[in-house]
Amino acid sequence: MTLKRVAIVGGGASGLFLARLLSQKRRLKVTVFEKNAQTAAKLRASGGGRANIFNRIITPEDYNNADFAKALLSTVSPEKLDEQFRKFGLVTVYDSENRVYPATQFSQTVVDVLSTFDNNNVNIHTGTPVTSLSQKEGGAWIVNGNHGEIFDTLVLATGSPANLLPKFQSDYNKHLAPLHLKATALKPSLAGFLLENIPKSLSGCRTKAIVSLTQDNHLIHKEKGEVIFKDEGISGIVVMNLSSYYRRLKSTENCRLSINLTHWDENFDVNRHLTLYGSLTGIIHPKLESLYKKKPFDIQDFTFKIKDTYPTDSAQVCSGGINVGEIDRNFLSKKHKNLYILGEMLDIDGLCGGYNLFFAFASAMVAGNHILKSL
Ligand SMILES: Cc1cc2nc3c(=O)[nH]c(=O)nc-3n(C[C@H](O)[C@H](O)[C@H](O)COP(=O)(O)OP(=O)(O)OC[C@H]3O[C@@H](n4cnc5c(N)ncnc54)[C@H](O)[C@@H]3O)c2cc1C
Repeated sequence: MTLKRVAIVGGGASGLFLARLLSQKRRLKVTVFEKNAQTAAKLRASGGGRANIFNRIITPEDYNNADFAKALLSTVSPEKLDEQFRKFGLVTVYDSENRVYPATQFSQTVVDVLSTFDNNNVNIHTGTPVTSLSQKEGGAWIVNGNHGEIFDTLVLATGSPANLLPKFQSDYNKHLAPLHLKATALKPSLAGFLLENIPKSLSGCRTKAIVSLTQDNHLIHKEKGEVIFKDEGISGIVVMNLSSYYRRLKSTENCRLSINLTHWDENFDVNRHLTLYGSLTGIIHPKLESLYKKKPFDIQDFTFKIKDTYPTDSAQVCSGGINVGEIDRNFLSKKHKNLYILGEMLDIDGLCGGYNLFFAFASAMVAGNHILKSL
């Protein structure tokens, strides 16, 4: 029996899922290279430690590239991913917004399930950054230099620098430069917004609102949910989702956020309320009311010019990355033999609610099944 050696660079969500899937075939010898001392840091942190691993309802428009997402969803649906997790022994539950979590509501469970292998054919090298990659003439890959290990298949699953401290961002994925993969600049997404002239007195105020993203007075997207005012901007899940739509714009000139505080009724008659009760005490947060008393503002169109999103270290994902034109439907490189590229490294990003982990797992499932089929 000839062994086929697979190297997975990155022991995060997609890398671990793939290793778990490939562990069923003893003919495969799988090595995972993980630079950190522990695998899957982001998966552990996801969903506030509960791991919102996917969503039961996913549409192509939940991603920045709907065409690519549509093709993927025709192969891996949320049901199919759930089925695969069940095969791995993970039972899932979901909430009122169709966000799926492990039944334990504990992200470590997902990491543990994905690190429980069918055979002892998977080795995880933690604390082992991959710094160089090269390919021999026959197509075999050498990981980490001339004296490094040799593999038949290479899988790149190193994610993005989102949420990392600035000092760890600059050389992220630098070892890929010799592969000349076409990529779009990385920008923070699923982040809060830095706003012009946001009153500092509101910092710390949490309130529900309908928030609209506009450009040149044209509505891009609006959502209802909790908004958190900060020193220089605002945050919260709705705001993070709007940042994803902001990143999809060709130009981000003249973008504004409009906050409607009467979230229970967009067209609530505020003037009538003021006439009847003489104040906004009963309808808006005390910090907002105190600001209103000093300097009245339109509580249904509290508008700010967007400076930018918060930087990469506070973002959940990055938009941009390796262009999807570099891979085929099996996530196999069109340019290099025996090379797969998975997860957030690719220029695909989705909204908050399980869409990014879904993409990471689904890409690993497609590539994994392709590797298994090729045996
Ligand atoms: C705080 C936070 C909360 C989130 N919550 C959710 C959520 O609830 N639901 C959701 O869908 N998404 C969530 N996300 C996004 C989601 O976690 C990522 O999109 C997903 O983990 C991407 O998977 P990946 O496999 O592509 O990359 P990752 O999971 O980031 O894995 C990449 C791995 O590669 C390793 N690596 C990098 N470079 C090298 C190298 N040179 N050599 C060796 N190893 C290397 C990294 O250390 C890492 O372990 C969250 C993100 C953050 C930061």
